[in-house]
Order: sequence, then structure tokens, then C-alpha cells
Amino acid sequence: MLGEPAHIKVQYSLCHSNKGRIVMIEETNTISETKIRLTDSIAKYLYLGNILEENIFPYPKIEGEEAETLEMVLDSIDKFLEGKQDQFREFDEKGAQSDEYLQNLRELGLFGLIIPEEHGGIGFSNKSYSRALQQTSQYDGSTSLTIGAHSSIGMRGLLLFGSDEQKARYMPRLATGEMIAAFCLTEPGSGSDAGSIATSAEKQQDGSWVLNGEKIWITNGPFADFFTVFARTDSDSGKISAFIVERSFGGVTSGPKEDKMGIRASGTCTISFENVKVPPENLLGDEGKGFKVAMAILNSGRTGLGGGCVGGMKRCIKLATAQASERKQFGRPISEFGLIKKKIAQMTVDCFAAESLVNMVAYLIDSGHEDYSVEAAMSKIFATEALWKHANEALQVAGGSGFMKEYPYEGIVRDCRINMIFEGTNEILRLYVALSGFQTAGEYLKEIGKSGKNIFNDPIKGFGVLSDYASKKLTQLTSVGRDRLGFVHQTLSEEAEIFEQYTVEFSKSVEAILRKHGKNIIGKQFASERIANTAIDIMAGLCVLSRVSSLIEEKGEPACAQAISIARIFSQQAKRRMNQNLRRIDKNEDEAQKELANYIFEEGKYPWDVL
Ligand SMILES: Cc1cc2nc3c(=O)[nH]c(=O)nc-3n(C[C@H](O)[C@H](O)[C@H](O)COP(=O)(O)OP(=O)(O)OC[C@H]3O[C@@H](n4cnc5c(N)ncnc54)[C@H](O)[C@@H]3O)c2cc1C
Repeated sequence: MLGEPAHIKVQYSLCHSNKGRIVMIEETNTISETKIRLTDSIAKYLYLGNILEENIFPYPKIEGEEAETLEMVLDSIDKFLEGKQDQFREFDEKGAQSDEYLQNLRELGLFGLIIPEEHGGIGFSNKSYSRALQQTSQYDGSTSLTIGAHSSIGMRGLLLFGSDEQKARYMPRLATGEMIAAFCLTEPGSGSDAGSIATSAEKQQDGSWVLNGEKIWITNGPFADFFTVFARTDSDSGKISAFIVERSFGGVTSGPKEDKMGIRASGTCTISFENVKVPPENLLGDEGKGFKVAMAILNSGRTGLGGGCVGGMKRCIKLATAQASERKQFGRPISEFGLIKKKIAQMTVDCFAAESLVNMVAYLIDSGHEDYSVEAAMSKIFATEALWKHANEALQVAGGSGFMKEYPYEGIVRDCRINMIFEGTNEILRLYVALSGFQTAGEYLKEIGKSGKNIFNDPIKGFGVLSDYASKKLTQLTSVGRDRLGFVHQTLSEEAEIFEQYTVEFSKSVEAILRKHGKNIIGKQFASERIANTAIDIMAGLCVLSRVSSLIEEKGEPACAQAISIARIFSQQAKRRMNQNLRRIDKNEDEAQKELANYIFEEGKYPWDVL
């Protein structure tokens, strides 16, 4: 175990967040006598070997008036979407939702979920919003995407950065769906490297802007009227700015609808901007701060996608259990076979963990935590990959039927594949999770600010270099201690111990990696992936323990037997994965794999044959 070094005196001042929870907000480091503000990111603190338990326990709930409104919305979603599977198949084949269907979504109020009541919306928190998308996803992925692209990313910039005047001007029409919103970041030459966009906005003498460029694969693009557009405005304050663009400004054109593998009924197309005149009052946020706006939107919107994934998983479990109970082979329902039971149990454990993590992230956002970007990235990675496994397993349980278009399984597989690609690919997000944690280790010593701290503040823009000085200092980072999880219910004390122990092991590995690679850590993607995977397992495990502990408190142990079992299974499985990931940081085949890949790139093909 690593102890706190004598030369660093750490003082934590505790304060209450707006939900009455205690959060650490400040650290005084006597090395420099200057105060730095530490964020209350649970995930980032894990890299220091600390668990901010007060931020995770008790598990958050949706209560009171909001719960009542949510129940009503869920009920109307059920009533509307129930029995529409034939229609969804028709939309899937045609590659579009009908105008009438879009109108129905408007009338249900589904475009106003996160818009404050004063502007005509329902005013949901992120928890309720995420839960609502969970419900729509139990019926149809494309429906969730049409609603989600509007609220999670299309108009979220207005919600987060819009002026009062901008909100008053647009929100009422966005709430009714009179205006549907789209988010325009990706371009032909700029995907993961979003900082490299070429769309330009030139400032005119009268303060207005002229926009030129092309955005690709824009969800809701065929019918949106409100676009959050990112364009290059190179100025002293930054390179990119965000704008609200209306289709009615002129010069905005939609390309043909993309013919996609999945979520085919959602609308995706190119949006071209040709000499589009944007009034000065439509700059969103500060000039030059558009990249920050884009990342804040994506971070804040992730629980929509996460909720959608959880809904998809619940649908898979329902379908697979019905199929396995009905289908008889060898004279018995296949549900009686061990390998089918294993699939259903694993799906349930992963769904519970994903749900626990996604809802926790939504709570963090709702309760005013300033720094949740790493937790949000973790929830996106975990939920999207869990759904992918669910879809695959549900199809497998259905056997050959699963492969037939007559059944829903192949459609679910097609629909959920995109989740691991858009809103930040899971590779880029894993690097973000890892490198943000490494930066926290640097921040702890306060030195990294001198060497490009800002490179870590965005998930996509690129990954800079730690200074030699900072990395030398990082070698002295030994202030990790073993945090005890005091709030976990005693029934789960063994499980708590797993995460206590691995949080310390994890931070030791972080330190060892930094010591070994110094500034070259940026290029160590294999190691970064293992670190990210371990951090995700710890974070998901803590959310599961928090949720099950709260359930036991509320309902008593006997009523929670299955939830306790889920916590046990997840903890043991996570322990094995964490052990494997951490051990393989030193003992691995990374270099051999890189060389092999280089060889194959040179050859341009698999060069062996048995002939
Ligand atoms: C159906 C659909 C809907 C979409 N909706 C929208 C939308 O509404 N608005 C919008 O702006 N965009 C949208 N997108 C675009 C989407 O966000 C991008 O596709 C995504 O960001 C990835 O970019 P890319 O496709 O150019 O892949 P690339 O960036 O070219 O990446 C290709 C592969 O390389 C990997 N990779 C890239 N860089 C690195 C690195 N540094 N290290 C390791 N691996 C790396 C990636 O993870 C990926 O596996 C949509 C895309 C699709 C397909």
C-alpha cells in the first residue's frame, strides 16, 4: 500500500452539494502554497486510489412530482408504441418514418422532454429523460434516435449555453416539435478528430456570419429546421465557434437520405451550408469556444443514449426469455439448458450494471456536479457494448429464427451497432477515460498545468504530451491509500472489499505506467485501454453496490435476494477482468501485435494459405 508522502500536505475542505451530499472541492498543496480546485469527479479520483463514497451513496431515485409525471409519460409511450411492430418493420424497409408518425411523436410531447416548463416543455431531469428513452427503446431504436438526436445533442447546446433571449426565441417551437433539431459536427474529413473541421464562418462588418461547408451523417438532417453547427472562426479566443442555424436562413440544403445498416427509419443525410447568413445573435456560447460547447453537449447528452441502450437490453431479455421458454428441443424447453440460462443470467447482470451506471451519471449531471465527463464516457462505453452483447445473445437464443427478418432479432443487431461508433467512438472514449485519469494524477501534483493541461479537457481533439517535469513529479505520486467503503450494506462487505482493493491496485498501476512511460503515455494505447477498462469496472461496480445497498435498506434483505446475487456475480466477474487487465499491463504481447499489424499493413492482406 502506498502512503501519503511527507512533503505533500493535503487538506480537503468539505462542502455540501445542492442535494445535501458532501463533496470534496478543494485541496491545498503546501508545495506551492497555491490553492487548486479539484473537481468532484468520482472516476478521476479513482486514479488517486480514492473512492468519493459520499458522491455515490445512497443510490439516487426519481421521486415526488417528477416521478408522477414520468409515470404518465411512460404510460403514454407504452400506449402509443404498443402493437406497432409491423409499422416499425415497414419504416425500416422503407428507410424512413412517415410524416404522420413524426406528427404523432410531436403530439405526444416527446420533443419537449428536457425543455423547461416555462418554455412549453416537460422539464425532465436527465434521470427522467434517460428513463423515457429507455421506454421508447423497448419498442424501436429509430424512434429513440429521432427524439434523442433532437434532445440529447440537437438542441442541448441551446439549453446549456443559450442566452435567455435565444431560449425564449427557440425553445417553445422546439418543445412542440414545430422545429426539430440536429447537431452538425462531423464532416467528410473530420470524424473522431473533430477539431479539424473545415466548415467556415466568416464574420461580416455588421457582426453577422457567413457559413460555408458540408456536414455529413446528420441525424434528423432530412427534416430538421434548427441546426447546432460548428464552424471554424479562427480567432485569438479559439478556432471553432458554435452557431444556431435555421433552415429558413437560406443556403441550407439536405442531401439524399443515407441508406443505412440499422436505425434505418431515422433520418440521416448530408447538410450543406452555402453562403448562409447567420445573424450575430445566433452565435451559441462565446466566440472561439465552440469546441468546448460541442464536448459539453456530447457529455451531457450521453445518458440519453445510455438510457436507450438499457431499454434495448430489457427488450432483448424479454424476447430471449419468451423464445427460450417456448422453443422445445430434445423434448424440453431450451430454457432448461445450462448454456441458455447462462446467457439470460449474464444479460441480466450486464443490464443491471449498465442501468445502475447510466442512472448514476444522469444523477451526477442533475445534481450539479461540474465534472462528469469521464463518468459519462464510461457509461456510454459500458451501455453500448452491453447492448451489443445482448443483441447477439438474444439472436443466438433464437437460433435460425433469429436470423430471419420475420423476427425482431436481426433488426435489433443492425440497430444497435451504431451506438459504439457515434457520439464519440468507444476507442476514442476509452482513451479519454484513461488520459483524463492520468491528467488527474498530474493535477494532484499541480504541475501539469504548465504543460498543456487543456489537451485533456476534450475527448476528441487530440492528446498532447505530459511535460518531463510533470512526469518526474508523477513518479513521486504515492499518496494513495485504501479507502473503506463504509456505506455498502454489510451483506455485500466481501464485494466492497474487491473494489476497495482494486482501487488501490489500479492507482498503483496508474503510477507505475506514468513512471515507466512519462510523456510517452499518450501513445500507449494498449495500456490506456486496460486502464480505462479497469476504471470502468470499478465505477460500474460501485454503482451496483450503491444501488443494491439502497435496495436492501429500503426493502430488507430477503426481498433483495436476486439483486444481491447480481451484485455478487458482477463483482466476481469484474474482479477477474480487473486482475487480467492490470496484470497484462506489464506482461503482454503488445509489441508483437503491433509488429504483426505493421507487417499486414505492408502486405495489405492476409498472406498465408494452406495450398
Ligand atoms: C448513423 C449515423 C448517425 C450520425 N449522426 C451524427 C450527427 O447527428 N451529428 C454529427 O455531427 N455526426 C453524426 N455522425 C457521425 C459520427 O459521430 C462519426 O461517425 C463518429 O464520430 C466517428 O467518426 P468517423 O466515422 O469519421 O470515424 P473515424 O474517426 O475515421 O474513425 C475510424 C476508426 O478509427 C478509430 N480511431 C480514430 N482515431 C483514433 C485514435 N486516435 N486512436 C485509436 N483509434 C482511432 C475510431 O475509433 C474508429 O474505429 C453519425 C454517424 C452515423 C453513422
